[in-house]
Amino acid sequence: MKLDAIPSITDLDVKGKRVLVRVDFNVPLDEHGAITDDTRIRAALPTLELLLERGATPILLSHLGRPKGEVVDKLRLDPVGTRLEELIGKPVRKLYESRGERVANELDQVDPGTIVLLENVRFHPGETKGDPELAADFAALGDAFVNDAFGTSHRDHASVCGPARFLPAAAGLLLQRELDAFARVLDRPDKPLVAILGGAKVSDKLTVIDHLLDRVQALIVGGGMAYTFLKEMGHTIGTSLVQDDQLASVEASMRKAEELGVELHLPLDHVIADAFSATANTQVTDGPDIPDGWMGLDIGPKTIRRFCGAVAGARTVVWNGPMGVFEMEPFQAGTKAVAEAVAACPGYTVVGGGDSVAAAERFGVTDRIDHISTGGGASLELLEGRELPGIVALAKR
Ligand code: AMP
Repeated sequence: MKLDAIPSITDLDVKGKRVLVRVDFNVPLDEHGAITDDTRIRAALPTLELLLERGATPILLSHLGRPKGEVVDKLRLDPVGTRLEELIGKPVRKLYESRGERVANELDQVDPGTIVLLENVRFHPGETKGDPELAADFAALGDAFVNDAFGTSHRDHASVCGPARFLPAAAGLLLQRELDAFARVLDRPDKPLVAILGGAKVSDKLTVIDHLLDRVQALIVGGGMAYTFLKEMGHTIGTSLVQDDQLASVEASMRKAEELGVELHLPLDHVIADAFSATANTQVTDGPDIPDGWMGLDIGPKTIRRFCGAVAGARTVVWNGPMGVFEMEPFQAGTKAVAEAVAACPGYTVVGGGDSVAAAERFGVTDRIDHISTGGGASLELLEGRELPGIVALAKR
């Protein structure tokens, strides 16, 4: 399946129609239930504005948090509706259910062109189980379906995949932007394509490594996951993070990289600490070996130069995972330098995955990156080469 070859909202006949839109309004809330970051609501605005311009009545489906199939008052979508109203500058009609006759009757009372927000779909136990009856009930409320919930498209849930079985369906503008970005990296990259992987666990990234090795000219590995590689190469790693049960897998990855002629960049030096703490004693190593009793918590200056040099020469870059424990000030330099190198790269740049997006925000480079993905889990699955159920549901029509 070609990532960018699925039906587009721009080809859907929506005039005068009720269009069910699966959005991802799963925003973070503080302890008082106030929204702390409305990025996900803002991300849906272009699709909603397009639908309104074209004379549709958008009926929004979303989840919020993990109510586990029960009605949880704290997870009602009312604050989301209020924020959406402020952002779009138009009334939003919030309903207290997401299926059934009462909802259908209320929809009959709504003026055409009004945005309707249904209640949290995860109040129904069938949502996360992909229940076909629930999907049919959602579908009965609309004339067409748009999936714009990229961040949830790796889930085979009733409101994500189900309505596409019953209604004309297409990808919304946000979903399309995400798919275009990953297609530019995975299907038709300008070369050289350089991938930067980091983060804690190598086991989470093995499939990504395998899929990317077939595509990239260079693979940069930093963060906690690099120490399993270094150990396999025979270096000492002290008390650094390591997954001994993955040594054979990383050996296979290194062999594959060599066979394919992919440049594999691993840390050449480290910032080490005597404890996992922002106030630990720290040192910079001369080379890749780490003495007993010390752990690597960031890449060192030689590594920064090597990694940033590889990024500077790229025409396409994809970055997923921090280079060190960037949440602690003494171990942020590596991730910051890589974030700045990605931002400065004249090629096409994509950042995917929760922690690298947080790092890009923290180091103030988001404006200079071509695409910042809105879905951590979904973007990782695309990088693994997996087909996302929410996208397959649109494609197989
Ligand atoms: P992940 O969720 O696998 O992408 O990992 C992200 C986390 O990895 C971040 O919270 C980082 O603090 C952590 N991390 C990065 N490098 C290291 C390291 N060298 N040792 C321990 N944790 C690390």
